[in-house]
Amino acid sequence: MIVPVCDPGARITSHGDAIRAALDSFLTGNRYILGPQVEAFEQQFADFLGAAHCVGVASGTDAITLALMALGVGPGDEVICPAMTAHGTAVGIIRAGAVPVFADVEKTTRCLDPRSVNDKLSPRTAAIVAVHLHGFPAPVEELKNLASHRGLCLIEDAAQAHGAVCGRRRVGTVGDAAAFSFYPTKNLGCLGDGGAVTTSDRIVAEKIRRLRVYGWDSQRVSVEKGFNSRLDEVQAAVLRVLLPGLDRDNQRRREAAARYTAALSSTPLGLPSFDPGAVFHQFAVLVDDRERFRDWLHAAGIGTDVHYPLGLHRMPAFPSADLPVTDFLAERLVSLPIQPEIAEPHMERILRCILDYSWN
Ligand SMILES: *Cc1c(COP(=O)(O)O)cnc(C)c1O
Repeated sequence: MIVPVCDPGARITSHGDAIRAALDSFLTGNRYILGPQVEAFEQQFADFLGAAHCVGVASGTDAITLALMALGVGPGDEVICPAMTAHGTAVGIIRAGAVPVFADVEKTTRCLDPRSVNDKLSPRTAAIVAVHLHGFPAPVEELKNLASHRGLCLIEDAAQAHGAVCGRRRVGTVGDAAAFSFYPTKNLGCLGDGGAVTTSDRIVAEKIRRLRVYGWDSQRVSVEKGFNSRLDEVQAAVLRVLLPGLDRDNQRRREAAARYTAALSSTPLGLPSFDPGAVFHQFAVLVDDRERFRDWLHAAGIGTDVHYPLGLHRMPAFPSADLPVTDFLAERLVSLPIQPEIAEPHMERILRCILDYSWN
């Protein structure tokens, strides 16, 4: 049996009874779309984050698109974002009609480097999308300063950072809006696709509420060009069961990350920055001969993954860019198992296996 890098099934199983009870109500109820579950989850998630408004949508990618559109970003605009991120970051920007302009990241935080963002500014820049990669809080205060001095919007891509803390606030409450994904493997994941936008701006929230359902106003008249992008009732019900355990699960991820950090600091591995506010969606180390290292772990029954093997700027669907740190990371990152349910004997096996690795 391979120790998995992430194991959403373990979380679902451990909440099996509560999830089954929540799902049972759908067999007798008659509300499936935009009903009481979505409304209650939106309130619960906004309260958890300390956000004024939360709007459930169909995915994290849609959350980015709808946030940008509601903030008035679209055709003719450039949006600066990292290329060391999930595809959805750039797809969300393109779906809004804007052009992603990739900036480089910092080597240990793997998040946007504000100096590189500064270099990428142009008269067409309308927004910055900061990704809290691997659950590590991006330097949003600094980016917010940079953005507000130039009249740009700042959107947080918090798809990997539910519950992370930046200063005294949860991530997702600093920018003009934030995008969350509830894809099953995320820190807070449902049984399919789901997402949400948070914002402190009531007008932006109301616009997203129209955009997610055909551009409807309260009379069901389409007053703008909308989408069908709704979080459904079943997923919202599951998320309501899982949200109360999120802080505890994130704390377990932090404990595992602290153990990795302490045990591996004497090795040649490039360790991620340790930030007490991070929620370690991944624990990704840098290693020069990546395939040999991964084979060694695999032979010992330890799963690894790579997030991400190729910067988005190297993919045909996206604009290219010169990003030396992103390329450096893409060649060397290896994600180690970090799920909250990781068993103690597995953790010991992983650490022993890495310490036994011959580095040359
Ligand atoms: C998962 C993810 C997305 C996309 O979310 P989906 O729900 O899969 O559309 C966007 N950005 C980041 C950083 C992600 O990890």
